[in-house]
Amino acid sequence: MIAHQPIHTLPEALQAAGFAGQIETDSALRAAMATDNSVYQITPDLVVAPRDAADVVRVLQVLQDPAFADVALTPRGGGTGTNGQSLNRGLILDLRRHMTRVLEINAKDGWADVEPGVVLDALNDALRPHGWFFAPETSTSTRCTIGGMVSTDASGKGSRIYGKTSDNVLGLEVARPEGLLSSLGPAPDWAVPVLAQAERAAREGKAAFVANTPRLNRRFTGYDLDRACSEGGGFDWWRLFLGAEGTLGPITRIRVKLRRIEPEKRLIVAGFATFRDALAAATPLLADDPTAIEVMDEWVQRIAQEAGILAGLPPALRPEGPVAYVFVEFNGHDAAGIDARVATCLDRLRALPGQVALYQARDLAEIRRLWAIRSAGVGLLAKVDGPSRPVAFVEDCVVPPENLPAFVDDFLDVLRDNGLGFGIYGHVDVGCLHIRPALNIDSATDRARLVAVSDAVFALTRKHGGIFWGEHGKGMRGAYLPEWIGPAAYAALQGVKAAFDPAERFNPGKLVTLRRDRMGIATTPFRPFNAPDGDALDKAFRCNGNAQCLSYQAATPMCPSFKATGDLRQSPKGRADALRAWKSGGAVAEADLLAVLDSCLGCKACASTCPVQVDIPSMRTAFYQSHYSRHTRPLPDRLTLLAERHSGVALRVAGLARPLWPLLRPMAERLLGAVDLPERLARPVPRHDRIALADLGKPLPAGTVLLWQDWFTALFDGQVALDAVAGLRALGYRPLVVGMHPAGKAAQSLGAQGAFDAMAARLVAALTRAAASQVPMIGLDPAFVMHLRQDYPKAGYAPPALMLPQEFLSAELAAGRRFPSVVQGDGPQPRILSHCTETTALPEAGAQWAQVFAAIGLKAVPEATGCCGMAGLFGHQARHQPVSRRLFDMSWRPHVEAAAPVVATGFSCRCQAERLSGRALRHPLALVAEALGNAPAA
Ligand SMILES: Cc1cc2nc3c(=O)[nH]c(=O)nc-3n(C[C@H](O)[C@H](O)[C@H](O)COP(=O)(O)OP(=O)(O)OC[C@H]3O[C@@H](n4cnc5c(N)ncnc54)[C@H](O)[C@@H]3O)c2cc1C
Ligand code: SF4
Ligand code: SF4
Repeated sequence: MIAHQPIHTLPEALQAAGFAGQIETDSALRAAMATDNSVYQITPDLVVAPRDAADVVRVLQVLQDPAFADVALTPRGGGTGTNGQSLNRGLILDLRRHMTRVLEINAKDGWADVEPGVVLDALNDALRPHGWFFAPETSTSTRCTIGGMVSTDASGKGSRIYGKTSDNVLGLEVARPEGLLSSLGPAPDWAVPVLAQAERAAREGKAAFVANTPRLNRRFTGYDLDRACSEGGGFDWWRLFLGAEGTLGPITRIRVKLRRIEPEKRLIVAGFATFRDALAAATPLLADDPTAIEVMDEWVQRIAQEAGILAGLPPALRPEGPVAYVFVEFNGHDAAGIDARVATCLDRLRALPGQVALYQARDLAEIRRLWAIRSAGVGLLAKVDGPSRPVAFVEDCVVPPENLPAFVDDFLDVLRDNGLGFGIYGHVDVGCLHIRPALNIDSATDRARLVAVSDAVFALTRKHGGIFWGEHGKGMRGAYLPEWIGPAAYAALQGVKAAFDPAERFNPGKLVTLRRDRMGIATTPFRPFNAPDGDALDKAFRCNGNAQCLSYQAATPMCPSFKATGDLRQSPKGRADALRAWKSGGAVAEADLLAVLDSCLGCKACASTCPVQVDIPSMRTAFYQSHYSRHTRPLPDRLTLLAERHSGVALRVAGLARPLWPLLRPMAERLLGAVDLPERLARPVPRHDRIALADLGKPLPAGTVLLWQDWFTALFDGQVALDAVAGLRALGYRPLVVGMHPAGKAAQSLGAQGAFDAMAARLVAALTRAAASQVPMIGLDPAFVMHLRQDYPKAGYAPPALMLPQEFLSAELAAGRRFPSVVQGDGPQPRILSHCTETTALPEAGAQWAQVFAAIGLKAVPEATGCCGMAGLFGHQARHQPVSRRLFDMSWRPHVEAAAPVVATGFSCRCQAERLSGRALRHPLALVAEALGNAPAA
């Protein structure tokens, strides 16, 4: 056991030693670091994020103090391990936070040096302009790090041709207490005895190791004694670290081998009547030497079909009944050569038994779309209802491809014997299948099944000449290693461990142990799996830690607070972990939980984009309800609630208050802890463009459309109503703006349920009355419309449909309506920037606007952006300024400051653009009006 006593003095010792990175004991961050994509949970004591390699050495030096002799150290990258690889007690070394630099790209010789925390996609973004790429392609490429890939020897699609990560690494630098040890230069004197000891052990065990590890493409790595001891007598010690899962110490620099980008791509998708037919296709298709062959079974096809995802497939790929799909990809430089192989492959497929559908894609965008459909289908495996869900523990076995059908038959017998459901997909070209049986980890019966199935499948992989850990690494499954590798080879692995980590400090209890207890698949603590029935925090328990929400890309909506900070606790995963720990009585302080919930922008990207739809804002509401039933709300929150509730009155007196607003505004900012509140109160909409509440529901003339606004827009953005009226009128409609009823968005997000209910009931009643007029109803602000669409039903309200302007107009076009049109000038094409809440819930939002513009003769281009950083009041709150401004700089500034005309759909976004770049953006309907010669009043 590791003693925890002295660890509380470690932060001080690290600071005294000049450690430059972050040292964190925050309970919400520790809760976030306690999980990965596995069923396990181990809460660390401390999280340390070094700035650079020298900082890592400083940590190791401080740990040499005998007071810290028992402190465990476990490196962590993206935390996407499926079997608890990066989970441990003691100190977590978070390499993803700061060590993310691409240090050198040698475009001439085809290699790059990187820090371990670089995310795979970020590396390939940096390499693309040089014409190179780093080949191992994981499904987690948006968030897994190169350090994690090296340490699990990751691989994926195309590995038959490109190899695993270990086939694409040229050298490493690792940190030791004495300094840095690099394989790219001579070993320093202090390292010589360590390397000599490791070499002795490796040479002694090599023959036994080779005898017990099958010669497969997905070869066994992690202390690879075979490749470390080269035939010529050299000792490539660094190869021992490939796949070692941090158990030999932290890697601080990696030299990766690059490959030339292959410009030519073709994809064949074939449907088979049964999964067995699809599996049997693998061996014959290998004759055409494709880059990758992937399969997806009928179970995945069915859930994808039910979710509507398969509607995006070409009709040729949608025959009646269940289908198992085979995806065959060809990449290369020689178009003619590839086409010839594709033609042979198509012929071969036509002749295969059970083949029922066939399609070839040559266009890169279409190929990407087809792969995305496949990924989305597979992602749905995580989204099943009920207490049992697919879990990773036997998910990446590899057998020789020719043994695959027989292996699968045996595997499925095991699952049936245990009464378990499952979905299957995987890389059949290398004999690797992903099978995640559905279990309820809270139940003792299912925990026993986990062990029984695991033992049985382990035995099956041996029977069929395969490897139990073919892709995702070992983690807790390393418990099978001694039995698998045999006593002689295992003793050699222990010799290697003893050379590099005699104190068993690095990721202790995993893979190879000397004196410590080994972590087992059933003895490691499991994370709570299900919330109590009907609990509002259910989704926090359903978050499976796949880390899809950790996007670093500026143009994606998910998740702005993580993107701006790189801080795991400020991600949907981090917040879900903290909420789950709080609910299940875990070690999370309520103050730490409040802090991570406060930093959420409420943009809802998680609710739409996470495969499990982990909806953090809804759970925050539930937590606030509980918290503020026991504690007093802060004054700014109370004032915000008051302002929203009485906004109708405020709107009525806005005409009088308008001249006073410049004096009231600084006072409001002080009381609310806000900055940059809007400078003007809105002018009232002209009387002839309004409809009184009393007139709602009466018959209205043909062409009438009713426009609805939320309180913030009505109070501060008079322009959008004028723009919408002018734009719709120019298109031939008769728009009328309805008197405002607040929707209660602030009340709901602050957990003031009573206030929300009162406002929601009034608004729903007004909408229902208005719906009797049977004219289209449009909501002007996307955040308002999405609130009604997403949150009202969850709260038990069923308001009549409120459309976004572009939804209404594109539906009109589809119904055959024609709009007046103009001839576009020579200037730059207008850009459309959509609100992120809108694009995540309605990905076609930008395309619908483009369609509307096309109908009036203009080409307007929807731009992909992330969140602008405003998100209602968030960007006005003084405490959130750094994050709000960083997000605008990352995701919006380049678009806003482009030379072209720019329009934005969201009021928040227009406010943010105006205050941070000084450019006043208008709503797209203003552009419609101007183009059609009906310029709205400014
Ligand atoms: C949905 C999903 C799909 C996946 N698909 C694939 C796939 O297609 N192919 C595949 O190979 N894997 C896949 N995985 C598994 C996982 O993504 C990979 O193993 C990945 O390489 C882990 O990288 P990471 O940065 O998240 O590492 P982590 O999970 O953070 O760490 C993994 C291990 O590496 C060690 N480590 C990390 N950095 C260092 C370092 N600098 N020095 C020493 N040790 C270090 C950690 O201690 C840990 O033991 C998938 C996982 C999920 C959740
Ligand atoms: S919040 Fe969603 S995307 Fe993020 S880790 Fe959890 S399940 Fe995955
Ligand atoms: S609402 Fe937005 S900021 Fe908050 S957790 Fe979800 S994605 Fe992140």
